Amino acid sequence: MDIIGKGGQKMNSMDEARKILAICNHRSEDNSHDLLIYDQNSGTARCTKCGCTFTPLSSNAKPADDIKKVIDAIQTIKVMWPNMPEEKAEKLYSILPVLEDVDAIYREASYHMHMEELQAYKSKAPALKAI
Ligand SMILES: [Zn+2]
Repeated sequence: MDIIGKGGQKMNSMDEARKILAICNHRSEDNSHDLLIYDQNSGTARCTKCGCTFTPLSSNAKPADDIKKVIDAIQTIKVMWPNMPEEKAEKLYSILPVLEDVDAIYREASYHMHMEELQAYKSKAPALKAI
């Protein structure tokens, strides 16, 4: 897989492609807008920077149950494949602590988004600045 990096350099390893997917925040360089193209039919969004396609959740969504299912799947994999190659196991099991934190981080992100929306609203309605 060939990927053209930010500086125009050619990257050809899957690890580098995964790294780009992992660090992309789907936002423009100046963070002023997202880089998503929304498909109204499927409800998905595709990032024009990294190519990631996902279904955005509402800011009020409660992803905890879905995250628990992923954690349960990984914990079950441990039981089903106790002698998994070390490199693969290390990579997979290292995400468990991160997954445990996702629900709390989601709520925090939702709070920040609502605060930014409130600030934008106040800036458009000067009479509300005192709120
Ligand atoms: Zn992206």
